[in-house]
Amino acid sequence: MISRRRFLIGSSSVLTLTPTFGRGSVRDYPFTLGVASGCPRDHSVVLWTRLAPKPLQGGGMPMGIVEVRYRVSNDPTMKKTLQQGTVKTSEEKGHSVHLKLENLEPGREYWYQFYLGDDESPIGRTRTSSSEDKTATFALASCQHYETGLFSAYRDMAEWAPDCVFHVGDYIYEGAANPINPCTEEAIKRAKRWQLVREHNGPEITTLWDYRNRYAQYRMDADLQAAHAASPWIVSMDDHEIDNNWAGDIPQDPWAQTPLEFSIRRIAALQAFYEHMPLEHSPVIAGTRSTLQMHDSYQMGPAQIHLLDTRQYRSDQVCGQGFPADFPCEDLQDPTRSMTGEAQEKWLFKQLEKSNKPFNVIVQQTWFSPYKYAESTDQRQWNMDQWDGYPIQRQRIIDKLGDVSNPVVLSGDWHCANANQIHRAPMDTKTPMVGFEFATTSISSICPWASRVHDAQALNPHVNYVNGDKRGYLRGTVDKQNWKSEFRVVENVRAKDSKITTDHEINTRDLV
Ligand code: FE
Ligand code: CA
Repeated sequence: MISRRRFLIGSSSVLTLTPTFGRGSVRDYPFTLGVASGCPRDHSVVLWTRLAPKPLQGGGMPMGIVEVRYRVSNDPTMKKTLQQGTVKTSEEKGHSVHLKLENLEPGREYWYQFYLGDDESPIGRTRTSSSEDKTATFALASCQHYETGLFSAYRDMAEWAPDCVFHVGDYIYEGAANPINPCTEEAIKRAKRWQLVREHNGPEITTLWDYRNRYAQYRMDADLQAAHAASPWIVSMDDHEIDNNWAGDIPQDPWAQTPLEFSIRRIAALQAFYEHMPLEHSPVIAGTRSTLQMHDSYQMGPAQIHLLDTRQYRSDQVCGQGFPADFPCEDLQDPTRSMTGEAQEKWLFKQLEKSNKPFNVIVQQTWFSPYKYAESTDQRQWNMDQWDGYPIQRQRIIDKLGDVSNPVVLSGDWHCANANQIHRAPMDTKTPMVGFEFATTSISSICPWASRVHDAQALNPHVNYVNGDKRGYLRGTVDKQNWKSEFRVVENVRAKDSKITTDHEINTRDLV
């Protein structure tokens, strides 16, 4: 039965029942998490906001349906209205708003704003894709631990305002707060080692309430909000949006959480991810089989984008789970193990076959090319959470990429920038070159294994560049003939207003 309160809130008098205190009021301002846009296509884009007057306490909106007004303009001051309307939301989706704007012109910039009562959201800028565009610009980001650094990289990204931002995961970290001023000896050591600059809100997150509050904490960061407001994003999660190194329906620590507990946690995490991202698809909640579709294809100028999801359908890690691994072990050669699941692999191959674009950009989470950390291949020196743990499927994909125009693989996850040539036999540079891989460093997460990566570079002749010492992001610019990668680095990730520069630039036309 519908309660009277819910009925009243759902009626046309909704806006007068929602307490608002004008734009200047901090206490109940609902747009504390900013605005975002995503999934850019030639004629549509998704606009996002979430009403959260008390962002760290579940959001703080009253129960019931709320109507949010919006306006779309062709200028940054919002003078002329191109489209306007209202969109409904409620507590069922954490008062998040996902609005698919349609009937847009290709390759155009648009500005948008949401309104609730007298309150106005910040103004966001977005851009539709276009097959006619001669060039396209992309930022690639991953791994933004809130405690170990500021999000300065996003300030630079917002100023650049690329056509699109790819985020390939570890948007949040699920761990408990590490106190900046700890009192136990162990915590003091950790605070020093991690060089903490700020604290997570509370213990390790497991419930929908926890995940919402964690996203809200991250999204209240002004630099992150600016990057969301400056460009449309295309996102696919990795592991820390749920739990470190999870795979399919298996947590990293099956001794600490039962399969049922983990699958309930997974539903909460997928739901909260959806509530905070400008996504087209909402999660399909079906008990332990609940899923959120993230893999998808996009076309941007000369590039066909293939966005993968390498967590939700992956086979469990083997040979000791992570890094360094118990290597070699027989399970590694099992041809049924995969990063993507069978259906997604088939989908990818079909998309690659269909593509008629000069560049094919595969956007995904972990390092694709092999990385050898020691001379002898049978030492415990490989990372089983990356594609090195799934070599049979990787070879199938490399073989496929051999038939495709200019494949470029983009990766994140390892908190370390890297540029590789992908060869038919990936460790053997004498075999034909198939394509390129560029991995972004982390936005703010530390890279304790940086010196091990640097020390091993000479063992990896397919690797052109590594840098695990700096935080930042990757700029990509593509035209018909060339992909340019610029590795942007933050001088000091713990200092406000730190300088951000290009550490290295690579053009694929110079490498062929
Ligand atoms: Fe990470
Ligand atoms: Ca990760």
